[in-house]
Amino acid sequence: MTRIRNEVVSANTYVLQATGTVGDVCLVVDPGSDTETLPGVLRGVSVTPVVLLTHGHFDHVLGVPHLQENGSVVYMAGADARFLRRNNFYMRALSVDHTTQSFPFVDLSESQPEIADLTVLDTPGHSPGSVSFRFHDALVTGDTILSRHILSPTIAGCDEGQQIASVEGLLDEFTDGTVVLPGHGQPGTLEQLVSRNDDLRTVIEYMRGEE
Ligand SMILES: [Zn+2]
Ligand SMILES: [Zn+2]
Repeated sequence: MTRIRNEVVSANTYVLQATGTVGDVCLVVDPGSDTETLPGVLRGVSVTPVVLLTHGHFDHVLGVPHLQENGSVVYMAGADARFLRRNNFYMRALSVDHTTQSFPFVDLSESQPEIADLTVLDTPGHSPGSVSFRFHDALVTGDTILSRHILSPTIAGCDEGQQIASVEGLLDEFTDGTVVLPGHGQPGTLEQLVSRNDDLRTVIEYMRGEE
């Protein structure tokens, strides 16, 4: 696993690789603004990377056109297509010095990549089309669970209640030793994230109270 820390609001890009019986796999999750580091990371990779997007916010998609030009297929939930059209507006509003363009993608709610040991998990809330990915023993959470928070600064389309329900689902399904790769901040095991993330502990206490 390679983590690239993009400069634009320091979102994480993850390059995940595996060797399988049917060939090698390379996944690029949430290619961000740093289009200079990524080619170096991909230099020794013999297969065309598959691009997976946890959601459509600008900080997670700025590197997509570059990869698409080189033949990568891009997967994202169609419910987030609206953001691709609005990302330039959001960046202007937040004084982020970038522009982007909308791009074609395969809608994860219609078709999912057939890759061994990859599962797409619907985790709506942070955005309507937010998904998480399980790949081998890692869980990529996008902005559904951040390293130190759950709720990031609200962008239109965020549904707090739905997001907390999605977080509860992930906490139910994954064990302490799961390696969590969040959209922002340091990765760690689920246990480590819980120890540094007050929001996660609040959700866990709430879940225990409901039992
Ligand atoms: Zn986001
Ligand atoms: Zn983000």
